[in-house]
Amino acid sequence: MTKKIQAIRGMHDCLPSDTSIYQYIETTLKKIFISYGFSEIRLPIVEKTNLFKHAIGNMTDVVEKEMYTFCDRHGESITLRPEGTAGCVRAGIENGFLYNNQEQRLWYSGPMFRYERPQHGRYRQFHQIGAEVFGFLGPDIDADLIIMTFRFWKLLGISKHIHLELNSIGSIESRKNYCRMLTVLFEKNIQALDIDCKRRMYSNPMRILDSKNPSVQALFHKIPPIKEYIDEESRIHFKELCRLLDISCIPYHINQRLVRGLDYYNRTVFEWVTKDLGSQGTICSGGRYDDLVKFLGGKSTNAVGFAIGLERLVLLIKAIQPKEIDTDQNIDLYLISSGTGTEDIMLLLSETLRNQLPEFTIIKNYGGGSFKKQLARANKYKARLALILGEDEISHNQCIIKNLCKGMQQKVSLTHAPFVLRELLKLLKHK
Ligand code: ATP
Ligand code: MG
Repeated sequence: MTKKIQAIRGMHDCLPSDTSIYQYIETTLKKIFISYGFSEIRLPIVEKTNLFKHAIGNMTDVVEKEMYTFCDRHGESITLRPEGTAGCVRAGIENGFLYNNQEQRLWYSGPMFRYERPQHGRYRQFHQIGAEVFGFLGPDIDADLIIMTFRFWKLLGISKHIHLELNSIGSIESRKNYCRMLTVLFEKNIQALDIDCKRRMYSNPMRILDSKNPSVQALFHKIPPIKEYIDEESRIHFKELCRLLDISCIPYHINQRLVRGLDYYNRTVFEWVTKDLGSQGTICSGGRYDDLVKFLGGKSTNAVGFAIGLERLVLLIKAIQPKEIDTDQNIDLYLISSGTGTEDIMLLLSETLRNQLPEFTIIKNYGGGSFKKQLARANKYKARLALILGEDEISHNQCIIKNLCKGMQQKVSLTHAPFVLRELLKLLKHK
């Protein structure tokens, strides 16, 4: 027997029962992006490995152990993108749209790849919808992005299940001072550190603040909060951001331990987190990265962005089933014909109905079968209505419209059928 070939671990098929939720999210977010003046950018899924090494940082989890890296046929090292920002900045520099701190509002969506241990809400192929804004220095744009994401959650009906964690990690310079202090503190408490933390102690000590290890966490009370180290300009920036969120009535929690996993962030960092999904609760993360464009070879350009993990968002939506999301996959109308010559007429009628009722889902019966059998198929599809054509109906230029939810039926003229169907379906769908 041939061995069944299965999907790669951590990579999932998205089945039709879920795609309706993905589509709902995608269309809702796309409309909001457009209303805030964002344009879509589509970027390659594969990039040169060095791009991610430089942009994300050699000592981050993503680069150290999560990248899907291969050699192509010419021996060049390439990587399946683990996130979207690096590619977006590379594209901006290469295509000249990040020249001279130009203003850009961009959004993207697509698959990302990280070689992680698969678990609920953590996969090896997952999807992000993200946004990157270039060319603005002030906290007003940080606030605007957060306000826009809050609008997402409201329209998706999940705003009560998600909260905002906010922090400022200061300038790259002030971060260096903080890191120096952390290294000294960790050196003094080296016995409490695990292997990973020891490795990071010199290269990336801030990442130790993310540790889930209780013996490491026991040190945290000794660590002064980053706000004592951040520079004056970043402090003012953060204060103003908080004020803008206050006047916009966006609740937030200042989390001094929020540092974010990737190296390129400075000043504002934020996460939208839910308690409904266990430990994989971060739905959206973002922040400022004012030095990345220059670091990757472009002209110094202010930047801020975020990325939403779509799988986690879908899991949350499935867990709380907000009334805002209609995941109903019922068929609106099933077309049944029975008797000599009725099938040909139904074929033509089905196209006319699709012209006149483009907003509804219409399935025609295929493969004949008795009237009873066809009706059983209509019920299997959970069709709301059936349109029935028999020889008798055709001779009178009529059809039968049957309400499959209630069992009632009526005869109508073929000319009036589209009008009656539309009115009935509107009633049935919005009851
Ligand atoms: P985590 O702390 O959960 O590992 P992260 O800091 O690595 O997240 P980011 O790089 O900021 O995540 O990615 C943005 C968002 O993408 C996350 O908030 C999350 O919703 C989602 N995400 C990240 N990694 C995965 C994954 N392996 N599977 C599913 N979603 C993911
Ligand atoms: Mg991660």
